[in-house]
Amino acid sequence: MKLHEYQAKEVFARYGLPVQAGAVIDRPEAVRDLSVQYPVVVKAQVLVGGRGKAGGVKLAKTPVEAEAHARAILGMEIKGERVGRVLVVPAADIEAEYYLAFVTDRAARRVAGIASAAGGVEIETVARESPDKIARVDVDPCLGVPAFAARGLGRRLGLDGGVLDEFIRIATTLYRLYWEQDADLAEINPLARVASGGPGGGARLLCVDAKLVLDDNAGYRHPDRPPSEEMTPLEREAREHGLAYVELDGDIAVIGNGAGLVMSTLDLLAYVGGRAANFLDVGGGASEESMQTAIDLVQRKPRVRALFINIFGGITRTDDIARGIVARPPRVPASIRLTGTNEVEARRILSDAGIAAGTDPEEGARTAVALARGHNVDPAGGAAPSAGSSGPDGAGRPGSAGPGGPR
Ligand code: GDP
Ligand code: MN
Repeated sequence: MKLHEYQAKEVFARYGLPVQAGAVIDRPEAVRDLSVQYPVVVKAQVLVGGRGKAGGVKLAKTPVEAEAHARAILGMEIKGERVGRVLVVPAADIEAEYYLAFVTDRAARRVAGIASAAGGVEIETVARESPDKIARVDVDPCLGVPAFAARGLGRRLGLDGGVLDEFIRIATTLYRLYWEQDADLAEINPLARVASGGPGGGARLLCVDAKLVLDDNAGYRHPDRPPSEEMTPLEREAREHGLAYVELDGDIAVIGNGAGLVMSTLDLLAYVGGRAANFLDVGGGASEESMQTAIDLVQRKPRVRALFINIFGGITRTDDIARGIVARPPRVPASIRLTGTNEVEARRILSDAGIAAGTDPEEGARTAVALARGHNVDPAGGAAPSAGSSGPDGAGRPGSAGPGGPR
């Protein structure tokens, strides 16, 4: 899971990494109540990179200017993500921008420490255009990042003196943070060298940006982690029920059992001209209850016009599935396809409730598409000709279910 910059900086601050103290606001007028030193930088808080280039990071010399920037940025969409909050921080006087990160390198089966004197630019760009500007150390998990390894990295950035000492402290601390917080990525870009106004006089380093990607599998070890903002409320609810649910942007809700079947169901829908609104995997051995929860959940997404239930009964008993469907008759027109374990019983349960179910997945997908388009589908005779359904009638053709019958 990704953290917002302001959340990552809270973690950084706990570890004593140098960050500017700022404030997060969600209304432009809130700028007036802030006691920050001007000039400030107003920064969009979204879980995507390249905010600066997209116009989501703006310098303001006065509160009036800051409020105007906040108003513009809060209305923005950056790479498909709407900006709901901005971070306002005192602007740093940047002399140079470096890059520093620790990242899980699965190919090398190591944590990699990566540094570059070409900071402020996306590291992928540096890697492509001037790979010689990137310094890398593979971290030995038994040793961690000792000072000498951090010093080696810092020297390759051309640092020396007090700034090099600071870099060593920052690099070793960032690695400790990465390790203790079970991160996948801990990145500072830019790590800036700023002119310090203090009595010491010398330059110092500041984490102007902070990025943390945390390993979800280690979530149980970190009860204090903020809730992930990458999931929609329905996705979060499904997760609480132990169901795998993902939202897409079409109009047909999909329920299947097993990741492979669900993926191929999405392909099948696309193949016959439909678009999934979401998909939910009730998993192997799904119970009547989980089927009920699944039906409730997928239909709650706005703009769902039809439901496609595609079940292959192996460990899963299709009669349990059927009982779940009967207990929660879909509100939207539904196309049901099921085969496998206890199929005869399942069909009997469904037909007693006046619900038709087919056996052929492609037919089921075509029916779902027809239903989503508002075509009339006759459970006995299959989709109407206008829906593009063809072929001879077979037994157990997919039909539609739900109060009010087919539409
Ligand atoms: P990103 O584009 O999403 O990575 O957002 P950053 O926080 O990295 O900001 C983008 C760029 O804005 C940085 O590389 C800096 O050049 C600039 N910037 C951000 N904060 C400050 C600041 O406090 N002072 C100055 N002078 N520039 C800043
Ligand atoms: Mn950045």
